[in-house]
This record gives sequence, structure tokens and C-alpha cells, in this order.
Amino acid sequence: MVEKAIPKVIPIRIDEGKGLTPSIGAQLITPHSNTQDKRGRILRDLRISVTDRCNFRCTYCMPKEVFDQNYPYLSHKELLSFEEIARLTSIFSTLGVEKIRLTGGEPLLRKNLEVLIEMLAQIRTPDGKPLDLTLTTNGSILRKKAVALKTAGLQRLTVSLDGLDDAIFKKMNDVEFPVADVLDGIAAAQEAGFENIKVNMVVKKGTNDHEIVSMAKHFKGSGVILRFIEFMDVGSSNGWNMAGVLPSKEVIARINAVFPLQAIEANYSGEVAQRWRYVDGSGEVGVISSVTQTFCHECTRARISTDGQMYLCLFANEGFDFKTMLRSEKSDLEIANAIMNTWAGRDDHYSEIRGSHTANQSTGARKVEMSYIGG
Ligand code: SAM
Repeated sequence: MVEKAIPKVIPIRIDEGKGLTPSIGAQLITPHSNTQDKRGRILRDLRISVTDRCNFRCTYCMPKEVFDQNYPYLSHKELLSFEEIARLTSIFSTLGVEKIRLTGGEPLLRKNLEVLIEMLAQIRTPDGKPLDLTLTTNGSILRKKAVALKTAGLQRLTVSLDGLDDAIFKKMNDVEFPVADVLDGIAAAQEAGFENIKVNMVVKKGTNDHEIVSMAKHFKGSGVILRFIEFMDVGSSNGWNMAGVLPSKEVIARINAVFPLQAIEANYSGEVAQRWRYVDGSGEVGVISSVTQTFCHECTRARISTDGQMYLCLFANEGFDFKTMLRSEKSDLEIANAIMNTWAGRDDHYSEIRGSHTANQSTGARKVEMSYIGG
């Protein structure tokens, strides 16, 4: 594959302005969990980016050429505080949100993250259930943090790992981080009592696709669920090109040729991964086919960026400014109404129409970066 030169750009984050102003509406209504967007989708899960910083420089996500020492990361006062995140989450939970994923950037770099997790673990849905709290991490400091995360009330974990070959992995994370330390982080999480840990592998054709079967072999029978993600055209800085995408059906074919697989049902409607079980009963793998088999029509997800903008799509280029609202005198009821109105106005389905404006490479239209909006 020919790597595209990465242009030196300052990708979109807050520097474009302060985001759109959410509308509270003329008449306040009681928060409820049935708000539909323009395509009939309802709001059920929320991803919260707790930092726009990361200690990796994955070439497909935060390439060094762009995220260098001059990159304008958010300052501490621009970030939502733990109290603001907890308040917003609590309001979202009155609107039917049951699943929260903390992400980033690298979420474990946010100081005292376990304190936030403790706060989120106290929140109850209107029918008295705790939220499903999960986190995506590169695993680099999991050995240090696993027990504190578990004790604070984190329920589930996803660890990103793009291969077992040290040279390939180091080339992809671009900071010389070794595979062994990520595997050790996963072991630490298991020791701390996390079950059904997921491992996400971004497959970049021509870079790490020959690692698919060895990754499958390594995690088969371990209780860890390995999931393969198609390389996506998120952000504006990763030099995405369709030639770098290995369709998930090819991933499944390669594993199936060695370890026979059988398709299984989704755990719940709207699950992004398609699940496959090993015929010999030694576990399952999943594929997330965001490029070749899109799932916009069943997307129930909103995102909160590090600085409190609500995004309705990973591929959006504008967010709604809830930070200003949180820092004004607005009540929970007013904020809940603003969220319902924002969701009701949602009409995006980027991945379904990607083909119509993305022939063979990224359009050049600037999209928000994944590290800021939360992967
Ligand atoms: N730092 C954490 C981590 O490494 O998991 C959380 C943030 S990261 C942005 C979340 C996930 O997005 C990771 O699994 C990462 O591999 C994935 N990701 C980032 N850029 C991607 C891209 N262009 N295509 C597909 N997945 C991507």
C-alpha cells in the first residue's frame, strides 16, 4: 500500500469556534427516554472523552507529524470537570442512556480518573439500575490502575492492541511501546477481577493484516474477546485511503480457514460488532465493519468531547456546546430539554453515504479528531 503523505494541519477541535448553541425550546417537558431523531433512532449510549492527550502516536489516529509539541491541546480549565461530567451523565441517564464509555485520548492519563468512576457508579437510571460503565484504553498504564478502576466501580474494559509482533506494533503506536506491556496490562485487569475483557485491533491493510490469525490464536480460549475494526476515515489527519481498509468479511475468512467460525446473534439491538463463535467452543471474536457494512441506521450513541461539546456522529464536524450551558445558571430540566432537542434534530448517517462523497480517499472535508471527540 502506498502511504499518503500526511499534511501538516491543525485538525478541528475547539479552534473553529465554540460549537452550536443547543436549543432548550420554548416549553419545557418532563425528561423521557423515547426521544427519536429524524431517522427514528433513540438515545441509549454515551461516549465521554476525558482527555484529548495520549501517550501513543498511532499513525492512524494521532500521527506525530500533527500531534507534536506545538499541538494546541486543551488547557485544564477547558476540560469538563468530574462534577460537570457526573452531572451531565446523570441528566443523560434520565433520557434513557444506560451505557457509558470513557475514552479519549488515553483516558487513564486523566488524573484521578477513578474518582470520576466512583461518582458515575453512584448514578441510577430512572428505574433504579446502575449504569453500565466501561472504558477503552491503550493498556499502557493498566498494570498500575486496574485495581483502583475495579474498586471504583468500573464494570468492563476494552484494550486496544494492533498486533503481537513487536516491530509492527511499535511502528503503529510510533512511541516504541512494547506488546508485552499491553499484554501485562490485560493480565493485571484479569487479576483485578475484570471479566470478558475486549481487545480491539484496528486492521490496516498492508500494515498489520498479517497479524490477524496470530492475534486470534493468542486470545482464543483466554476469555478475552478479540474484535477487529476496519480502518476508518475519522478526523482529518490520518491520511485515510480506501486501499488501507481490509473488509471484515476477509478478516473472518482468514480466521475461519484456520479456526472454523459460526455467526452468532448480537447481544442487543444496536451492537456495533458482529459476533462469531469458534466452532470448537473456545470463545468468540467480533468485527466492526464501519466502512464496508455500515450501521448508522441503528446508532443509538451520542458523544461528549473533552470540552463538553455534544457530537451526534463520530464523523461530525460540529458539536453542541453543553459546557457553556453547564457553566451557566441552567437547571437540569433545561439541560435535559436541550439534549432531547439536539437528539431530535439528528439526521446524520455519514457512513451510509460515505461512498457518495468518498471515492477512493478521504474527501478533505475537515472532521473532528477522534482523540478529542472520543474513540
Ligand atoms: N487511547 C484509548 C485506546 O487506545 O483505546 C482510547 C481512545 S482510541 C481513539 C479508541 C479506539 O479507536 C482504539 O481502539 C483505536 O484503535 C480506535 N481508532 C482510532 N483511530 C481509528 C481509525 N482511524 N480507524 C479505526 N479505529 C480507530
